[in-house]
Amino acid sequence: MPKYQVPSGGAKVGYQNGKLTVPDNPIIPFFPGDGTGLDLWKATKIVLDGAVEKAYKGKRKIAWMEVYAGLTALKNYDKDTVLPDETVAAFKEYRVGLKGPLTTPAGSFKFVCLDCAAELMDRPAKCPKCQSEWITPRFRSVNVGLRQKLDLYACVRPVRWFKGVPCPVKHPEKLDIVIFRENTEDIYAGIEFQQGTPENKKVYDFLTNEMKVKIPFPDSGIGIKPISKTGSQRLIRMAIAYALSHHKPSVTIVHKGNIQKFTEGAFRDWGYEVAKTEFRDRIVTEAELWDQHDGKMPAGKILIKDRIADQTFQQLLLRPDEYSVIATPNLNGDYLSDAAVAQVGGLGIGPGANIGDGVAIFEATHGTAPKYTNKDMVNPGSLILSGVMMLEHMGWQEAADLIVKGLEATIAAKTVTYDFERQMEGAKKLKCSEFGQAIVKNMDGTTVAA
Ligand code: NAP
Repeated sequence: MPKYQVPSGGAKVGYQNGKLTVPDNPIIPFFPGDGTGLDLWKATKIVLDGAVEKAYKGKRKIAWMEVYAGLTALKNYDKDTVLPDETVAAFKEYRVGLKGPLTTPAGSFKFVCLDCAAELMDRPAKCPKCQSEWITPRFRSVNVGLRQKLDLYACVRPVRWFKGVPCPVKHPEKLDIVIFRENTEDIYAGIEFQQGTPENKKVYDFLTNEMKVKIPFPDSGIGIKPISKTGSQRLIRMAIAYALSHHKPSVTIVHKGNIQKFTEGAFRDWGYEVAKTEFRDRIVTEAELWDQHDGKMPAGKILIKDRIADQTFQQLLLRPDEYSVIATPNLNGDYLSDAAVAQVGGLGIGPGANIGDGVAIFEATHGTAPKYTNKDMVNPGSLILSGVMMLEHMGWQEAADLIVKGLEATIAAKTVTYDFERQMEGAKKLKCSEFGQAIVKNMDGTTVAA
């Protein structure tokens, strides 16, 4: 028997012929996450349940099923388990899930406090910073563990502006993109050999002696960047299918193929290949647009183009409305996602999902913001909008639309959490929970003061 409780009255989401089958009472596994996760989750649940109730009048209802990860796993399993196998299995079995942020240790310390993320060299009975007793040995990222174990190969981040959100550019409304970032490969996927170790020397000797590669200095850390045809094509396939089903005008393959021809350049070539072989009658490449269509897009088709990564940063700032869906390898996607979301007001409002074949987990894109833990203060926008993505993924568009309406109206009324309030003139500061309640009140689209 698993430690988590399966809610009675719920049914499993199914998957047939590449499509989800969603019952009216789907069981959705979730965990709130560490730090501010619980505050974020409470506000998000109010909003998601409120929208589903309003849209479907009781005909549909989510059966939430809490599973454990991070701090809640330590509390429910043994003192060193942060990602129980049962949790991974539950996300796999129930297919659609929602998660809050988790503490991810990064430095060279040995222990970490999961309440306040303090990094410790020994294991005291209580954290010297916050007095929590939930201290665990340093572990690999739970987020990465989930992605790898479930093969969630696409990190999907829609980036758009919500009217009234303070941001650094003049026309934030012109940016409306969805980034598909490859999640399993590339230099960022962690094949590295530390300088000064025997493993590093082995790789160095192999590269210099056998492969006759010139590495400028022998005291180099070495990273390996695999980018495969399989990994690239399944990501780009998902991006094109998304663009088609969501009536988006284009997919841009973003790469650094001018320098790294056999990884980044190959990513681009494999992208065009999958577009032309699997979506031939629904796409036009940029070259074909000019050679065959005189620069005019034929109706009902989407444009496939490619851009160099560094140029894309400029373009998203200078000509954002020329971009719609973006497909890119891991490291480019990491930089691009955060830069793009900063353009429209920051991580507090940027949603995300990690998606594989038949399994998807939706998540806030920021971290645990530990200094605000239990203060009912942080902005739940990112987790709420991740919930919107989840509802769309399930085909519950009416509920998703209600939330967007409610969020837009709440921000337009200048009733916002501290992070926006400190940048907006004349705004009223709401708690995290009050912001959630205001969104529910505002779902009919009229602006009601909270
Ligand atoms: P962070 O938790 O994202 O917080 C950095 C700052 O961003 C906060 O101090 C706050 O800024 C702002 N912020 C973050 N979330 C916010 C929200 N919901 N509303 C308003 N402002 C928000 O990054 P961190 O402090 O570097 O990381 C803390 C822990 O989270 C680490 O253990 C890290 O590894 C982990 N992490 C987890 C994930 C994940 O689970 N997906 C992602 C990133 C980081 P102000 O101080 O200016 O108010």
